[in-house]
Amino acid sequence: MPRPRVSALIAAGGQGLRLGAPEPKQFLVLGAQTILEHSIERLLVHPGVDEVVVAVPADRVHGVAARCRERGWHRVTCVEGGARRQDSVAAAFAAAKTDAEVVVIHDAARPFVSASLIEATIEAAVTHGAVIAAVPVRDTVKQARGDRTAPSRPVAGTLPREDIFLAQTPQAFRREVLARALASGHGPDVTDEAMLVEAQGQAVFLVPGEATNVKITTQDDLEWARHHVARTGTMRVGTGYDLHRLVEGRPLILGGVHIPFDRGLDGHSDADIVCHAVTDAVLGAAAAGDIGRLFPDTDPQWTGADSVRLLEAAVVHLHQCGFHVSNVDVTVIAQRPKLLPYLEAMRGRLASALQVPIASVSIKGKTNEQVDSMGRGESMACHAVAMVVS
Ligand code: MG
Repeated sequence: MPRPRVSALIAAGGQGLRLGAPEPKQFLVLGAQTILEHSIERLLVHPGVDEVVVAVPADRVHGVAARCRERGWHRVTCVEGGARRQDSVAAAFAAAKTDAEVVVIHDAARPFVSASLIEATIEAAVTHGAVIAAVPVRDTVKQARGDRTAPSRPVAGTLPREDIFLAQTPQAFRREVLARALASGHGPDVTDEAMLVEAQGQAVFLVPGEATNVKITTQDDLEWARHHVARTGTMRVGTGYDLHRLVEGRPLILGGVHIPFDRGLDGHSDADIVCHAVTDAVLGAAAAGDIGRLFPDTDPQWTGADSVRLLEAAVVHLHQCGFHVSNVDVTVIAQRPKLLPYLEAMRGRLASALQVPIASVSIKGKTNEQVDSMGRGESMACHAVAMVVS
């Protein structure tokens, strides 16, 4: 069977301020990006999804669209959502391609949906027309009766828990099934699209959901989500390289350590190639620019600057981008002097600037076998690799 064309809709129009935060929950940050961006990314990177349409509050359309463009997410369309959930879904549906065969609807507040669950709902929608991800209940289910606002209500009975499921998203539909349901959806608020389809008399099928596919609704959920992201965070790598000429009359400073030698590296700052390469590696891992852009040498405040300070500032910038350093590995190419006696001191200075344990910093010295400018003692160079995690 050929793969169906699939549109994914994300309902992010809600003002969901239940978390007590100043912003709707989908715009709160989780690691390196917002909860909404996590949800968009999960769908966008899925090979079965052709486009993602996001319905956001009117005052967010411009900002979210700009952010998606910035990230190269060209298959994302942003539209203005509505007051009710079904209005947002209808707005997104109206902006989606009309030739899709399956439409997947996902909550903005479920940022951990897996690729296999997205796949399973798409496949089942082709077969059944209307499916939702759902998880069985584990606890005994009691039905209450009486006044819904009373602090303590009597039990009316025990429901057979084998037949009770908790609905999640994705919910996926053949396009015509959803189109009919949305066209009829002028009734009361629904909490999911499947309710509209059920109201049409159309069978809706269950696909096994996932315990980790949580909806972030409460402060506890948000804390759990932040821990989950920290445990399972994205790892990224960056590389850095620097070379400076060796000249007389300059001190030799490598990794923030003054090394006695008859020459030193020439440059605008202290020409510390180790700090410069590590700074570029760290910034590169976060795609956060480079040392020249952050600390331009046309800016007098960096003249003669201690490059350890530049590295520290880059690490603060990295943290603002939602990442922290996991480890760095550095190779210094210098024909002379022998660097071995200084490597431990260099590791210590770098570790403290990077805010990592010393065991997370590796530095090796290499000669250049008398070849090229480095081998002839006319220059020194440094290569660095940094891993950062969100
Ligand atoms: Mg440099």
